[in-house]
Amino acid sequence: MTAYRWGAATDVGRVRSNNQDAPLAVEHLFAVADGMGGHKGGEVAARLAVRTLEDSFTEPTADTLVEAVRHANAAIFALASGDHELRGMGTTLTAIAPVEDDGDETLAVVNVGDSRTYLLRDGELQQLTEDHSLVEEMVRDGRLSPSEAVEHPQRHIVTRALGIDSDVQVDSFAVIPYTGDRYLLCSDGLFGEVDESRIAATLRRLDDPDEAARELVRLANEGGGRDNITVVVVDVVEDGGRAEAASEALRGTDNTTKVHTDLAGFTSPVDEPGETDEITRPAGGKEAKATPEAATKSTRKARRRDRPRRFTWRVAVFVLLFWAIVVAAAGAVGWQARNTFYVGFAGDEVAIFRGKPGGLLWFDPTFEEGTDVARSDVPAARMRDIERGKELGSLADARRYVENLEEQIDREGQPTTTTTSSTTTTVATSEPAPSTSAP
Ligand code: MG
Repeated sequence: MTAYRWGAATDVGRVRSNNQDAPLAVEHLFAVADGMGGHKGGEVAARLAVRTLEDSFTEPTADTLVEAVRHANAAIFALASGDHELRGMGTTLTAIAPVEDDGDETLAVVNVGDSRTYLLRDGELQQLTEDHSLVEEMVRDGRLSPSEAVEHPQRHIVTRALGIDSDVQVDSFAVIPYTGDRYLLCSDGLFGEVDESRIAATLRRLDDPDEAARELVRLANEGGGRDNITVVVVDVVEDGGRAEAASEALRGTDNTTKVHTDLAGFTSPVDEPGETDEITRPAGGKEAKATPEAATKSTRKARRRDRPRRFTWRVAVFVLLFWAIVVAAAGAVGWQARNTFYVGFAGDEVAIFRGKPGGLLWFDPTFEEGTDVARSDVPAARMRDIERGKELGSLADARRYVENLEEQIDREGQPTTTTTSSTTTTVATSEPAPSTSAP
């Protein structure tokens, strides 16, 4: 059984005249909404979002949570469509809720817009949700650095929000909760004023979640308080022995970091990234307007985080290495096949061939050059070698072998001729002798 404790704080800030943020922190559901769309609209949209979310989250499942977000979207859209004063209102929404997942308890996380859910685990603060904002897209594309994004004049333009269209794309995924985990849900009024290292330090320093939430709001006001500030802090105080079981599993491996991340990780499918409505939310503007600009209708299906991505990379690297080895081996065989030579017969003539006698794999030998040696001239002692193909390391070696063969043929042919002529000579010289002596 997983148990939680939590705290929440919200504040109008030091510039705005009303608070268009809305927090939700009840036993089974935690959320932050940041409204936009006119003096009245933003406040109405944010409050309607968290109220509808709470009313619609009737079963502890991830699907129910996503459906509840869609209900909230529909409720805001319907109200805005029927009321001239509220037309164009919208809101961000991020929420977490303990859910049942095949008998296991996990935490479902959902997000639309640029409010954020963070996880503080082992002292490290990690942003779990992805912002649907123009500057965040520019950061992801490398056109803007994270520090530039904080001060960018268009930092308030969100690319997705509730209430702008009849349907909405919802990011959703699950995280396994462990004792000691601390979740932070907040509006941009916090992270726009307080840098993440300071947020993390505050979350590490203050044990009581209520106190931590209030301190973060105070720091945002100290930093300027240019926007409404909302903070919800949720601690996992008991995880039913899950952390211990994970530690046991970790002892069985030599790569603790990797396995820890896996166990920590994002277990259930999330949606494909896709952008929908772009809503302008001018900084500090009391009369902030929501203006739908771009719209695509693809439904979010499944995005998986750390573990699957690492698995994919591992497979990709393995496949690449495997093919690199195959190509290298084939190259070596090909080189071998194309850079050796042998002396053999081409018809009735001795010739030099490139390759291996009979070929190697798919590399057939090719005729390199002919010689003046006929098959009938080849000494019997060499016949067998040449018929099989006499292998040599290089073309020069093959030519030397042929020269050597020619010399041998000459040598072996010469003694026969010499004997014959010397016999003749002997006969010629001895013949006259008797005749000379005869007379
Ligand atoms: Mg805000």
